[in-house]
Amino acid sequence: MTAYDPNNIFAKILKGEIPSHKVYEDEHTYAFMDVMPMVDGHCLVIPKQGSRNLLDADPAVLAGVIATVQKVAKAAIKGMGAEGCQIRQFNEAPAGQTVFHLHFHILPLRTGDSVKPHVGGMADNAVLARHAELIRAAL
Ligand code: AMP
Repeated sequence: MTAYDPNNIFAKILKGEIPSHKVYEDEHTYAFMDVMPMVDGHCLVIPKQGSRNLLDADPAVLAGVIATVQKVAKAAIKGMGAEGCQIRQFNEAPAGQTVFHLHFHILPLRTGDSVKPHVGGMADNAVLARHAELIRAAL
């Protein structure tokens, strides 16, 4: 497998070199809004330790990330007034991965919601900021 690239876009977000709409942070994980949301409230959870994806991640790191996924998923459902959520996670380009730093997608969903295509249009910054605030308030 290709080596982890420490200059990928999510590593730059962790270093503060690229802005993001933060939802949650602890010692080992970071959560922020996806700029091309498939549904309102679509957010991402990443470990601070670098790995390309699930396949090369340290299992101890995975345990911490999944705990944050659960915490943020509950807040995303509550904050966005949703009824459930999808968790999506892609490994390597043929499987749809476009950013090579492990991440889990959280998609809060209501009955009848339709999910937009993966990596579609950019959302308005003000809308992302409002959704991040709703999710943070529900943590
Ligand atoms: P994946 O295809 O699973 O690698 O998904 C990468 C996700 O990252 C996509 O849903 C993109 O919309 C999202 N994305 C790309 N660049 C950024 C960024 N700078 N901030 C937030 N999300 C991003």
